[in-house]
Amino acid sequence: MNAPLFAPTIPSLTIADSTMRFPVRRIYCIGRNYAEHAREMGAPVERGTPMFFMKPADALIADDGTGVTVPYPSATHELHHEVEMIVALSGGGRDIAREDALDCVYGYGVGLDLTRRDLQAAAKAKGHPWDAAKGFDGSAPTSVLVPATRCGHPHTAALTLSVNGELRQHADTADMLFDVAAIIHELSRLWTLAAGDLIYTGTPAGVGPLVRGDHVSAALEGIATLAARID
Ligand code: MN
Repeated sequence: MNAPLFAPTIPSLTIADSTMRFPVRRIYCIGRNYAEHAREMGAPVERGTPMFFMKPADALIADDGTGVTVPYPSATHELHHEVEMIVALSGGGRDIAREDALDCVYGYGVGLDLTRRDLQAAAKAKGHPWDAAKGFDGSAPTSVLVPATRCGHPHTAALTLSVNGELRQHADTADMLFDVAAIIHELSRLWTLAAGDLIYTGTPAGVGPLVRGDHVSAALEGIATLAARID
């Protein structure tokens, strides 16, 4: 076999209390997974068919535990925060049954599904894809990962986000319309899941704008925190 022309960098996340890193293959995201957020976006609240989209793996900004700096992206005047619980997979497959789904989970973290809301609104209005709104460089700041062997599966945990000390988003993972097992089941009907995949599990109500200089503080209660400065 011919040698590769160059060695691509594989994005990876820090693992709590470990010298190992978690290499990231794909980033899946679910939309409208909290009823109050679906309402605030003017979308129907339903548990019918889940709505998925993706970010490129190199959109990650991985926290090493000391906080991250997020460059304000180009081509937008309306950068929005969306705090989300993140699930990291150590296994996968196709057509995974709900009762087997949690066996695929490596661990959990918290992250931001940063969104160019103005570009998303324009895309929605035209029926265009969301890539430029959701999958831009630096659109996925992510905390240190905590293995489920340490933290268990957070069926109920507070998910919060503050900007400059002011609480903007606050919900519980128990409020998700599709829980982690259901998301893995549904994703695996559409794609073959594999070790290294991350899942952003949706955002609660309270999304809003960020500006340069903002200090963002996100937390998944008892498991992970993420401090981000918008630059
Ligand atoms: Mn989101």
